[in-house]
Amino acid sequence: MPELPEVETIRKGLLPLVKRKTIRKVVVIDKRVIKDIAPKEFIAEITGEKIADIERRAKYLLFKFKSGKYMVVHLGMTGRLIFTKDKYVKVEFKFSGNKSFYYSDMRLFGKIRFYDSYPNLDLGYEPLSKEFTFNVLKDILNKCKGIIKSVLLDQKLVAGLGNIYVLESLFYAGINPQRRANSLKDNEIKKLYFEIKNVLKKALNSRGTSFSSYVDAKGKKGSFQQKLSVYGKKDLPCPKCKTPIKRINAGNRGTYFCPNCQK
Ligand SMILES: [Zn+2]
Repeated sequence: MPELPEVETIRKGLLPLVKRKTIRKVVVIDKRVIKDIAPKEFIAEITGEKIADIERRAKYLLFKFKSGKYMVVHLGMTGRLIFTKDKYVKVEFKFSGNKSFYYSDMRLFGKIRFYDSYPNLDLGYEPLSKEFTFNVLKDILNKCKGIIKSVLLDQKLVAGLGNIYVLESLFYAGINPQRRANSLKDNEIKKLYFEIKNVLKKALNSRGTSFSSYVDAKGKKGSFQQKLSVYGKKDLPCPKCKTPIKRINAGNRGTYFCPNCQK
């Protein structure tokens, strides 16, 4: 699933290609991706709109139109915004001059919504923002009895992190994913705070992690998968101590960690 670094990479690549372009025609090929609005109405709202900007909030892409309206795209598991048509295209956005961009989605977990004004998406802190300070993270963790992994995945607390970056951050911070969030000591929270930002920045520099379907606007894959330490590394040696990486199910998802380094 695309997480913050992948969605941000898509945003950066897509923006110069669509900015100031007017959507002349919208073709909804599969109406299941359009949520909370009838496809007919969606088409009527979007047609003729000029793209002023693309913003990102957590894992959401916010297409801001000149009129002040928004189209919000969540890519789900396999959603893509691309310029070359593939067999999973669900919506086509046509610009003038016969140019189009497409929303493609193989598994259909993605969602497209329309808003009259800036959307309230009910999300927590952006982990790379100035507002997300050590004290903010400490407050969040102190209030939560759940396991640290699930707390970091809760989009209403910290928004944009998914399984990959949560597990990688916990590894570098030396924290077992099953620890209770409120059991973390200040020095551990400090390490974790640093590693969340650090892992996200490194992933952004690598243009995200590509396992299967994620590509940027130009169809290019990310390369952070080559730099992962624990995610997807079951039975492989820990990069710090060579102990085999363990995979367990925690918080309903596959959880990878080093049983020796992560206490
Ligand atoms: Zn280790």
